[in-house]
Amino acid sequence: MDIQFDTAIIGAGPAGMTAAVYAARAGLSVGIIESGAPGGKIVKTFEIENYPGFLKINGADLAMKMYEQITSLNVSYLYGNVKNIKSEDTHKTVELEDGSSVTARTVIIATGTVERKMNIPGETEYTGHGVSYCAVCDGAFFKHKIITVIGGGNSALEEAAYLTQFADLVRVVIRRDVFRADEAVQEKLMATDKVEVIRKHVPVRVEGDGNQVTGIALKNVDTDEVTSYETQGVFPYIGADASTSFAKDLNILDPRGFVQVNEKMETSVPGIYAAGDCIVKQLRQVVTACNDGAIAAQNAFHYIKG
Ligand code: NDP
Repeated sequence: MDIQFDTAIIGAGPAGMTAAVYAARAGLSVGIIESGAPGGKIVKTFEIENYPGFLKINGADLAMKMYEQITSLNVSYLYGNVKNIKSEDTHKTVELEDGSSVTARTVIIATGTVERKMNIPGETEYTGHGVSYCAVCDGAFFKHKIITVIGGGNSALEEAAYLTQFADLVRVVIRRDVFRADEAVQEKLMATDKVEVIRKHVPVRVEGDGNQVTGIALKNVDTDEVTSYETQGVFPYIGADASTSFAKDLNILDPRGFVQVNEKMETSVPGIYAAGDCIVKQLRQVVTACNDGAIAAQNAFHYIKG
């Protein structure tokens, strides 16, 4: 059996790229498998203000710096969607959807999360026609329009604040009467004068004219009363689910699909590690993803050497 890499890393977000830096610097041969551009979710983030060393950095710029670092360390960047991982004592086989496979002594899963859908009528129909999951990508299409952001977490409030530079009104809809987001993020949003908050409401329908979004129907969670609001843009930021379906046969996921690891980032399968937003953890940040990646790589190194 020709084993291609000491470590195959799945996912080139901050966790995966940090793991690649640590593994490569420890002398391991590393292949990083990614279905898109490097950076993961940070590519869609306009400004990051809590990554040490930078007062503010654009997400795509940070991603590019990480990518330059891994390429300078001769990490192989492989494009593909992972379908399955097979584990044997001596090696792991990472099977890709295009029928190819990558073999490695160890695997680090760093696939992050995918945004949750609202699952309401009109959402799929108007995706790309007013419904968007990426404020940085699509915000500029909504100059002088009304935008509705769904959710009260850090993502929703940060993106709502970003969208105020384009829209005349950014309406934020939360299902409780309090936000989930950190205090500092709430303050930043409230410092803008274009924001309206609708509390204790949930979206029930995206409305449109057959071509573009024209409104959103919101239900009052106390009274069940449904009211339609004019809007041209709907940005749902209601959390995220782990991108780990390819790992379901390994018996390493919790009931929500997040990878269960110990403090060494080891899963219950020897030689398979996980890092970043896709693991069971309390704080999902760029800096904690990097932390996990470093630990996973370090322990992959020890596993291979000993
Ligand atoms: P969160 O899970 O933190 O927040 C999701 C929000 O959506 C909550 O307000 C939740 O309401 C609401 N929600 C969930 N489901 C529904 C639904 N079906 N209908 C309406 N509202 C719904 O997700 P985020 O994506 O904001 O953040 C994910 C992780 O990433 C968090 O750990 C966050 O801290 C982190 N993050 C950190 C950032 C930073 O520090 N700069 C930036 C972005 C993300 P409720 O509160 O009632 O449950």
